[in-house]
Parts: sequence; structure tokens; C-alpha cells
Amino acid sequence: MKVGIVGAGPGGLVAGLLLAKEGFQVTIYEQKDRVGGRNSSIQAEGYKFDIGPTFLMMPSLLEEIFAECGRDLHDYVDLELLNPHYKLFFGDGSSLCTSNNIEEMKESISKLSPSDAEGFDSYVKDNNNKISRTLPIFKRSYNNIFDLFAPENLKILPIIRPFTTLWDDLGNHFDDERIKIAFTFQSKYLGMSPYTCPSFFSILSFIEYKWGIYHVTGGINELSEAMAKLFLELGGKLELKSEVEEIKINDKKASELKLTNDKYKKFDEIVLNADFAYAMRKLIPNAKRRKYSDKNLDKKKYSCSTFMLYLGIDKIYDHLEHHNIFIANDYEKNLKEIEDLGILSEDPSFYIQNAAITDSTLAPEGHSTLYILVPTPNLKADIDWKENKEEFRDLIIALLKQRAGLEDIEEHIKYEKIITPLNWKEGLQVGYGACFNLTHSLDQMLIFRPHNKFEEFSNMWLVGGGTHPGSGLPTIYESGRIVAKEIAKKYNFAHYEQEGINLEVSK
Ligand SMILES: Cc1cc2nc3c(=O)[nH]c(=O)nc-3n(C[C@H](O)[C@H](O)[C@H](O)COP(=O)(O)OP(=O)(O)OC[C@H]3O[C@@H](n4cnc5c(N)ncnc54)[C@H](O)[C@@H]3O)c2cc1C
Repeated sequence: MKVGIVGAGPGGLVAGLLLAKEGFQVTIYEQKDRVGGRNSSIQAEGYKFDIGPTFLMMPSLLEEIFAECGRDLHDYVDLELLNPHYKLFFGDGSSLCTSNNIEEMKESISKLSPSDAEGFDSYVKDNNNKISRTLPIFKRSYNNIFDLFAPENLKILPIIRPFTTLWDDLGNHFDDERIKIAFTFQSKYLGMSPYTCPSFFSILSFIEYKWGIYHVTGGINELSEAMAKLFLELGGKLELKSEVEEIKINDKKASELKLTNDKYKKFDEIVLNADFAYAMRKLIPNAKRRKYSDKNLDKKKYSCSTFMLYLGIDKIYDHLEHHNIFIANDYEKNLKEIEDLGILSEDPSFYIQNAAITDSTLAPEGHSTLYILVPTPNLKADIDWKENKEEFRDLIIALLKQRAGLEDIEEHIKYEKIITPLNWKEGLQVGYGACFNLTHSLDQMLIFRPHNKFEEFSNMWLVGGGTHPGSGLPTIYESGRIVAKEIAKKYNFAHYEQEGINLEVSK
């Protein structure tokens, strides 16, 4: 049986290696000259940056996937548990270092707000319960209404409180605004504001405390390289610099890939990993699509985008932590500007990764890399990025000086690269520049998200951030596993028994 996969992002790689392990003849077509997609790297002038993901959570999932292929993930990459996880800087000059050591965490909280330290215990208790009851739900595929209303799903409704917002939910544990921000800003990973994000997603911050945040030596992109290596070892075929131009649909069935070099490739099953909103429009003619016609795609809600600055620096700023998050002075206003008003903020929140303090492989000796991410509106907003790019860059440099103590930064920049929302769309093929895909509002989750077994055409499957379960690395890996399992089941390759998720802290 032949499977063709469009895209070698994390979702495509996991699906590919698990299917190759099962004996399918798998070919992955990747348009770029390297694997990883948004989870790839920029390498220039001796500096190396992750393009996208820098927080690795739940590596146990990838350990399981490698183990299913008879391999040990730790033979392929070196993982480091970070402590502190990150430092949060608030507009009033105060800061908070977070850690998955409970006592250290309570002490840090009490320095900011003594009465909230005890709230950490109730937050842990509540979310421990929530996470152990809900994670299995995200390991299944959702194809019809019966999957959604399965008895095990209904039982957890009182626990996940679907109609409470994340912000209100955290109010059950903490009073201080800064502490609430520390446990809710993670909704930005989904491209959502905590004021609208469903309360269920308190598990996002909790995952950090339960299992920790990891760095991979050489960057998180090394995970993509490791998966590609394993895929090839298992007999998979990887075609780099091979762009798919069209997924041929005949009688509502996906049957063939047309490459840009005019070659046609027939497959029994086709797996799509390219960004959903982009790929629907680009790879399948509008006339063939109904549920996901161009018009309907436009009506969907998409995550925010990001403005990225990758700087190679000829010194090391050791007053910064590995991960540093600067919260806007007026956080609520900044979120409104991103989500509702669609304008560029003069006072944005931003994140700096200063990975060279833990990882000397990323820059020449004595040098470092700074990765700066600024959440911005996506391309549905009326912002001219060609016009605004340099001015916004200068604003961010000014903020690095004022808020992050990098007064001399301009003298030390030896390499610089910018990615704007327009570059996400045009260079990295991300629909609407919404780099965290469709939002995770209730009406775009589970059965309401594009299905793993694609509902429009037979023999076609979706993996990656635009499908179920969602857009972070652990859920993307899970999408690859769900699809591999379902395809294997279809052809009676019977190994994929549903297993309980491994809840142990990783090595
Ligand atoms: C700035 C940023 C920061 C992030 N930070 C984190 C984080 O810290 N932690 C976390 O867990 N997640 C994070 N994410 C989210 C998520 O983990 C990544 O975006 C992830 O890489 C998405 O994986 P994917 O499988 O959906 O596909 P992608 O990474 O988008 O890969 C899709 C692949 O398809 C290829 N492709 C597209 N079209 C074609 C075509 N026509 N023919 C052939 N190939 C094609 C692309 O070149 C690409 O390689 C972040 C994302 C971004 C953008």
C-alpha cells in the first residue's frame, strides 16, 4: 500500500514514520530543502535559530512514538529540563520566575502576592484531575456526532467547564492580576486571549508544572531532524525540494499528487500536513470543495500571527534567562489590539529566547542568539507589513533596550532576520499568516475542527496544527499518531491498540 504525504512538518513526519514502521510504502514530499516546516531552523553566519517552537513540553509523547518504532528518542537528541522554566516581567517592574518545583513556585508566588501562594495547591489539584480525565479524549479521532457525545466525553463536562473563560477560571485560585497572567498567557500558544479562551485550556500552563519545559540541544528543530532520520531508517522516502501543486480529486476521492515538475504520483492514501487554510485553497480547486470552500474558509476564526526578530549577537547577555516573557504594560489593551481591533500595538507583549546561556552549539564562542517573538494580528487585519516592517522593528529594538536591559544591543547585532505575518504567508505558506492555525474556540474543536479522516474526500487524511487535536507540538504529534493508527486499521495492520498516555516525567 502506498501513502503520499504532503509536507515534512512535525505532523507529516510522525505519520510518515509510524506508517513506514507498519510496512506501508511512504513518500513525503517537502517543498523546502529541509524538513520541519515551522519547526525547522535558520542557520546563517555561524548562528542557529529555531524558526518557530522553542518550548518543548510532554516529550514523553515522542518517546512513546520512537519506542513504538523500537528506538530510544534519547539516542537521537539531547533533552534538557529547564529550571527556571522562564521569567515573566510585568509592566510595573515586578517579575516572576516559574519552576516545576512546587515549593520554589509557591515561594515565587508569595513574593508577589503572599495570599495567592496557597492558591497554587488548589490550581494543581483542579488541573491534575482535569488533565488525567481529558487527555485520553484528545488521543481519539472525531468523525461524527456520536464520537463527540460519547459517554466518556459527557462525564467530563463538569470538570472542563466549557462555558467559563480561562481568565475567570483562574480567578478561582488567584486574586493578583500578575499571577493570573502567569497561568493564562499560555492561551497565546493557541493564538487566543485568556479572556475568550475556554477554561479547559488551564491545562496548558499546568502541563509546564506537571512535566516541565525542555530544551533540545541544537534547538527544537533537532526533533524534526531526528524524526526524518528515523523515517529514512524505517524505509520511508523523503523528497525534498518537491512541491505538490495539486491533490487530484476524482469522484470525491483523493487519488493522485501533481508535483510542480508536472509529474503525477498515484497513492492509495494521501496525508496532508501543509497548513490547512493555505493548502485547501492552493492544492484543491475551489469547485471541488463544499464544506471548506474559499468562502467558508474565510468565515473561520484564525489565530494571531507573530513578528519575529532573529538576532546573532557578538556577546552573551547573562542577566536574561533562557526564556523571558515581557507582558505589555496594559495587557488587556494589547490583547484587544491583536484580537479585536487588528492594529499594531505601541506597547506589545514580547518574548525573548536567550538559548545560548544553556546551549553553546547555537552560536560561535562568546556569541549568542536572541529569538524575539511579538504576537500581532493576522493578515485578516488591514496592516501593510511592507510599509510597517522597519518601524515596528525599531519599536521592538527600543523595547529591548528599555524593558530587557539590552541598552547596547545595536552595537552587537552581527546577523539579523525578520519574519512578518506576510512572510509567514508567502514564504512559509501559512494561511492568513495565522501561524498557530485555526483558533481553539469551542466551535472549532474536536468534531468541529477539520477531521483527521478528512470529511470532504475519501482516502485523504489531515495531520498538523490545523486539524484535531490542535496546534502545539504534543497535539500535532498526536494527530500524526491518530492518522497512522486509522490508516493501519483500514488495511488491517493491527498493531495500533489505544493505549493510556504515559504520565511519567520524561528522563
Ligand atoms: C513562531 C511560532 C512559535 C511556536 N512555538 C511553539 C512552542 O514553543 N511549542 C509548541 O509546542 N508549538 C509551538 N508552535 C506551534 C507548532 O508547534 C508549529 O507551528 C509546528 O511546526 C506546526 O507543525 P505542522 O505539522 O502543523 O506543520 P508545519 O510546521 O507548518 O509544516 C508543514 C510543511 O508542509 C510543507 N508544505 C507546504 N505546502 C507544501 C506543498 N505544496 N508541497 C510540499 N510541501 C509543502 C511546508 O514547507 C512545511 O514543511 C509555534 C509556532 C510558531 C509559528
